[in-house]
Amino acid sequence: MTFEYAPAPESRSIVSINPKNKLFIGGEFIDAKSGEYFQTTNPATEEVLAEISLASAKDVDAAVVAARKAFKSWSKLSGSQRAKYIYRIARIIQERSRELAVLETLDNGKPIRESRDVDVPLVAAHFFHYAGWADKLEYAGVGPNPRPLGVVGQVIPWNFPLLMLAWKIAPALAAGNTVVLKPAETTSLSALLFAEICQQAQLPAGVVNIVTGAGETGKALVNHPDINKVAFTGSTEVGRQIAKAVAGTNKKLTLELGGKAANIVFEDAPLDQTVEGIVDGIFFNQGHVCCAGSRLLVQESIHDDLMSLLYPRLELLRVGDPMDKNTDVGAINSAEQLKKIHELANSGDEQGAVRWTSSCPLPGTGFWFAPTVFTNVSQSHRIATEEIFGPVLSVLTFRTPDEAIDKANNTPYGLSAGIWSDKGSRILEVAAKLRAGVIWANTFNKFDPTSPFGGYKESGYGREGGRQGLEAYLEAGVAHE
Ligand code: NAP
Ligand code: MG
Repeated sequence: MTFEYAPAPESRSIVSINPKNKLFIGGEFIDAKSGEYFQTTNPATEEVLAEISLASAKDVDAAVVAARKAFKSWSKLSGSQRAKYIYRIARIIQERSRELAVLETLDNGKPIRESRDVDVPLVAAHFFHYAGWADKLEYAGVGPNPRPLGVVGQVIPWNFPLLMLAWKIAPALAAGNTVVLKPAETTSLSALLFAEICQQAQLPAGVVNIVTGAGETGKALVNHPDINKVAFTGSTEVGRQIAKAVAGTNKKLTLELGGKAANIVFEDAPLDQTVEGIVDGIFFNQGHVCCAGSRLLVQESIHDDLMSLLYPRLELLRVGDPMDKNTDVGAINSAEQLKKIHELANSGDEQGAVRWTSSCPLPGTGFWFAPTVFTNVSQSHRIATEEIFGPVLSVLTFRTPDEAIDKANNTPYGLSAGIWSDKGSRILEVAAKLRAGVIWANTFNKFDPTSPFGGYKESGYGREGGRQGLEAYLEAGVAHE
């Protein structure tokens, strides 16, 4: 039996969007020297939400200069003084959480249920966590009297705009660095609201600078000669370009890139719970998740049983208005991303996989892709090797644990994995043999600021979160200063 749901739209009146947005440099909102703007749209309606300043290389330079100036005093503050600011930011994020969630959903297309219950609470948790570290840096693992690196250039993607900002900014500030951050072109608005929060928290001018723009702005930041570190989250392709650009300089680099995670289901797994984990693994945030469980590896003996539970469950997913509190799957972030998903899904048909699509109705305007599952997938198919970054699951089978491990590791990526089994010993044995930075057991897509996150192989290097996340922003100091 399915239930009828009356619409339950969240009000957008809590947030006021500036029609024309400036850059945030040296503690103030200023016009871009370029004088150019680009538009950001709501992917669920294609409505233009606002104009955003396009930062040129000169604007990026002004931001780096402001960050360098601020570094002198910010790095000299005691850890407990820096903690007060970071803690204040965390509190304001909580106070303005509804505003942040609504803005994130409007600009990104993700369901309000997720921005309200997952993204924004995790953002606040990140700032709280690193506020706690600011006066304990000698325990961060780089030895006594650790020192900040200086000015950090940070470039983030569109799938978790505010959360990726938090992962970058919170540890950098706790460690005493100053930052220039470039959000993704399609999702700048929550970063600009965060800039307002920095003003509200009276964060010293220049400690955080936000330069909006597209890939060229990111390139100008990464290539700026006066930054000491680059922190990038995004595609493996751009990550590779950045690694080349930074090679031979003194800049430190961390890269959080793509993934093609295996979600492995053994025949003794609790199947109802597993079905929920599969849904969380690939349909959370429309599958726009670097660590998504996009390859389902199912033990052959339970394949049919599991699929007969999965399909009816997927039919219940409500796809549509992201501002509706009942919505499970929102809009695809951009027309460009939708095109990529179609192209890869079509390759699944062409290469002989069998497509199942939810019969859910899709809205007439905006960018949408119904929950989709491919079975009969073989390891050589593009849908089994390439990151789709959409609500598309590829199902493969295995007979023995060794075969599951071989198939799971047969990928150029190594970001995350999931294991479903009733046996703790099997979980530990399999986990030890998987080449993935994060492994979930009988759950999926769980995040916590205390837990390090990052990849192997083409998923990048460096860790974000927890104590390990601080190491990327510190260098060893002198033992007796
Ligand atoms: P992307 O195209 O690599 O873009 C990421 C960011 O880099 C954006 O801000 C982008 O600007 C900017 N950029 C583009 N070209 C650049 C260049 N040459 N130099 C410097 N910056 C440049 O990735 P995306 O499509 O936005 O995001 C999806 C990817 O991110 C997926 O592959 C996903 O797996 C990965 N991701 C990884 C993690 C992780 O923690 N491992 C987390 C989330 C996402 P524009 O947006 O303006 O083009
Ligand atoms: Mg947008």
